[in-house]
Amino acid sequence: MKVKTMVALLVLVMVVSGALVGCASPAPTAPQGGTSLINDYPSLKPLASFVGEENLSVLNLVGFKAADRAMKELKLEKGDLNILALTDAGYIARIGEYTTEKALDGVMLTSGTSRGKGNLANLHKPHNASLWFAFFDKKSKGCVYLEADNEVLRNYLEREKTGIDAALSEFMKLKDNEIFTKIAKENIDADRLLNNPESWQKKMVAEVFGGNEFSIFTISNLWAMGLPNDFLKVAELHDHICPGLTSGYLIAEYIKKNFPTPAPRYEYTVIAIPPWCKDDALIQIFETNVGHKRLYVKHLTKEQMAQLPEEAKNVANVFIRWPKGAQKGEGLVVGFDWDKAYEGSGTSPKDLKAFDTYKWWWVRLKMDIWMMDYLDKPEELVFAIKEFSVESQAELDNLKAAGVNPLVELGIMPGP
Ligand SMILES: [Zn+2]
Repeated sequence: MKVKTMVALLVLVMVVSGALVGCASPAPTAPQGGTSLINDYPSLKPLASFVGEENLSVLNLVGFKAADRAMKELKLEKGDLNILALTDAGYIARIGEYTTEKALDGVMLTSGTSRGKGNLANLHKPHNASLWFAFFDKKSKGCVYLEADNEVLRNYLEREKTGIDAALSEFMKLKDNEIFTKIAKENIDADRLLNNPESWQKKMVAEVFGGNEFSIFTISNLWAMGLPNDFLKVAELHDHICPGLTSGYLIAEYIKKNFPTPAPRYEYTVIAIPPWCKDDALIQIFETNVGHKRLYVKHLTKEQMAQLPEEAKNVANVFIRWPKGAQKGEGLVVGFDWDKAYEGSGTSPKDLKAFDTYKWWWVRLKMDIWMMDYLDKPEELVFAIKEFSVESQAELDNLKAAGVNPLVELGIMPGP
């Protein structure tokens, strides 16, 4: 009994002295990149809890920095549904060996934009494009553009690989102009651009948005008008919205209604003749990719274009539908009524290639806006040129084959 009491007392003394020693020793240091970074920058908290503090990367932080700066410039609160964020982060663009998708989380968790809300546009640019961010406010039509300094980012990413904590906290201390080579704010309201094109043209020439001006102002203005989400996905692949792309969206809508199939990727063969922006819309909507051997692309020379009869001068695509297990296929040749589109929008095709003046972008933006009213009325601009049947696999193979002009085979234009 006595021994037990002594042991208990001894244990108690050890515990108390241990606690005292604990109190006297310095408080354990918080991991630098984790808790202390959040303590120093409380606005990083949503991002840190989303990706996990221990996973925070300089790439998360560059997205945070871009969104944080833009929201302040535009005087917008996180989650405001008037914001559209646009960026090439996380599509294909890389910083050296590093892919850039983590910057997307920085943008989302700081601005409150997301794919689900339909206000995050992730644009396709090539692997070596600069990493950029744009934030557009639907109400004011203001847009803030930020382009990251690839060298600075690469340097911090290298450091992150070896000693993550210091790299993050030092990155956070950088000033915006040490991270971004370009920070610009412009009003990109379509009416303003269209009514005062000379003044915007100066900004186009100066590349105020790093050469991404056309992508940003077309997508932003059409998004503000209520662009459907599937069209936004089409625009992401194509990088901008132009009348050519919209014609593809309308052709897809027309085909969905008038020449449908339950399995587009397996039952359509599409021939683009001639190809233009439209074909990116078809790839996206029907999954009829070149790589799936569902899209064949055939150029028409000037001489061949001149030989097209009046009713086929605006020929766009040949669609062949071959239902699974069927013995033969059916075909439809469609065209797009450019005459009506130019006339209706008050534009002229001669301005399309006026690349040394404002006219090239002016005509496209003007038509883009006019065509928005036709997204659910495709038959007003898309028309059938010819229906036909394909009697055998050999006949289908011939239409796709190199050196064969399907429009000649189908009797739409004369042979050479
Ligand atoms: Zn285009």
